[in-house]
Amino acid sequence: MPFKDPVKRKEYYLKNKEKRSEYMKQYRLKNKEKTAEYTKEYRFKNREKVVEYNRNYNKDYYKKNKEQILQQNKEYRETHKEEILQYKKDYREIHKEKIAKKKKEYYKTDRGIKKHRISSWKIQKVKEDNWDLLYDIYMNTDRCDICDVELIDGSWCNQGKCLDHDHYTGYYRGILCQKCNKRDDKGL
Ligand SMILES: [Zn+2]
Repeated sequence: MPFKDPVKRKEYYLKNKEKRSEYMKQYRLKNKEKTAEYTKEYRFKNREKVVEYNRNYNKDYYKKNKEQILQQNKEYRETHKEEILQYKKDYREIHKEKIAKKKKEYYKTDRGIKKHRISSWKIQKVKEDNWDLLYDIYMNTDRCDICDVELIDGSWCNQGKCLDHDHYTGYYRGILCQKCNKRDDKGL
């Protein structure tokens, strides 16, 4: 059966291609468990190789079919709107505690504190084009712009730090203590 002559070998290979693939198919069907076990073992032994292979394969596939995949995803989202909403709702319901815990932890981080503070300013109808800059000013101001008292961040006492904004235009006016912020006549 094996030929030394490469041309003949190739001929033989091509001639029996279908036959062989059919034979392999039958073999796999007959020895399902054995093949499954073998595949499992192979994957386990070569975990990293397999992961790497899959990663590269997916990456390549995504690169080659990017437009098509994006379009498919878009169509799927449009045709399964209700289903997706329900799924998200269910997910939130099932993982309620986990989500609440994560949220609580997030609002303890610097990023979370910043986000929370900026959103509270937005609720107070403060207008701003550069929130990062405004937050920096707020964080780096230690004394009241009017009475020069030392400010305490996150406190509601007289020395508590607050952002003063013009209630008509919405724009920031200064960083004040609670006491000065409550005065009607701020002299600004
Ligand atoms: Zn003050």
